[in-house]
Amino acid sequence: MSVDAASSSAVDTDLAAAVERLRPELARLARELYDHPEIGFEEHASVARIAALLAAHGVDAEVGAFGLDTALRATAGAASGPHFAIIAEYDALPGIGHACGHNIIAAVAVGAFLAAAPAVAEIGGRLSLIGTPAEENGGGKELIIRAGGFDDVDAAGMVHPSSGSGTSSVLGQRTTGVRRVAVTFHGRAAHAAGAPWLGRNALDAVVTAYQSVAQLRQHILPSDRLHGIITDGGAAPNIVPERASALFYVRSAEVGQLRDLTDRVVAVLEGAALATGTRAEIDVDPVPPYLPLQTNTALTSRWTQAFAARGHEIPAPATPPQGGPSTDMGNVSRMVPSIHPSLGLGGPDDVFPHNAAFADLTVLPAAVDALVDAAAALAATAVSYAADPELRAAAAAEFAASGGPSRWEE
Ligand SMILES: [Zn+2]
Ligand SMILES: [Zn+2]
Repeated sequence: MSVDAASSSAVDTDLAAAVERLRPELARLARELYDHPEIGFEEHASVARIAALLAAHGVDAEVGAFGLDTALRATAGAASGPHFAIIAEYDALPGIGHACGHNIIAAVAVGAFLAAAPAVAEIGGRLSLIGTPAEENGGGKELIIRAGGFDDVDAAGMVHPSSGSGTSSVLGQRTTGVRRVAVTFHGRAAHAAGAPWLGRNALDAVVTAYQSVAQLRQHILPSDRLHGIITDGGAAPNIVPERASALFYVRSAEVGQLRDLTDRVVAVLEGAALATGTRAEIDVDPVPPYLPLQTNTALTSRWTQAFAARGHEIPAPATPPQGGPSTDMGNVSRMVPSIHPSLGLGGPDDVFPHNAAFADLTVLPAAVDALVDAAAALAATAVSYAADPELRAAAAAEFAASGGPSRWEE
């Protein structure tokens, strides 16, 4: 073992001990968020709990940062030092609570920040905790990017829970980008039995659009996804619907392909209007697009090393996943070198996020063990970023080689 490796493992041990002392408070935070889930942009009580926990440890956090009521920012260390941002999410899903495990994300982030902040400050680095609202429905991270919240950040990291025991596909992890396309068709109301010939049926337009998107789905790349719901199907069967609406998600692993596929969906919607004699009111990107995640392997390797040292087996990355979910952390990952490893909570592999059973996993003892170890590993990554110029250089070189900073542009 080199001197550097030996001192790094000693630092990791200190950080792990610091997180271990926080275990009861982190478990309580994850539990309280689980008990009181709040959906995107409504996370007022959730962010207040996080701020209160930080205050109990002498950290003055700003709630309402970046012009968003439920965003949070806390900073430690030297303003001029290398700046690592730990990202917290805490929004829940409508009707199924913390079925994406963002209560775990928040607890990991707070634990990592509190453990790492003193060490980062002593080294002369800078550490921020950035609480980002509405990952599920609003693209809070992109809104914070637009507000300049990442302009002075050099690297960023967060951890997302998953099912199973391993941290599946930590290295080379990809997610799809996603754009939303909302459509409202405007037809003409009429008595559905008395004078249907006078009507122009907006629900027929939605059904035609839905079926046409299903046909389009046969002719897209295996890495891409199209899916949607009907959000308004009319008022009563005896009224020809004069208005009906749907919301579609368009996902792709590549930014250019995301644009092309969105154009094809828009053409389908316009075709449905033409076929039914209605008018399509199409809203592309009612919330900001989420870009495909670009994992920084230099930083992820550091996280993996620290996490494995806590006794976790980390499976070799599988072949690149086809399709899959999206995250607004993708947008951050294209601004600065970023990590977003997944954290197995120990449940059965068939309990996947966005199912209510997954929320229940997040408060079991195995999930608390996992979050404590993940917080220690994230703290170790943040401290290494401040302490190790070679790690910073490797992360920056890899980021530059993949094209450097990029933003979504209309
Ligand atoms: Zn989710
Ligand atoms: Zn999530």
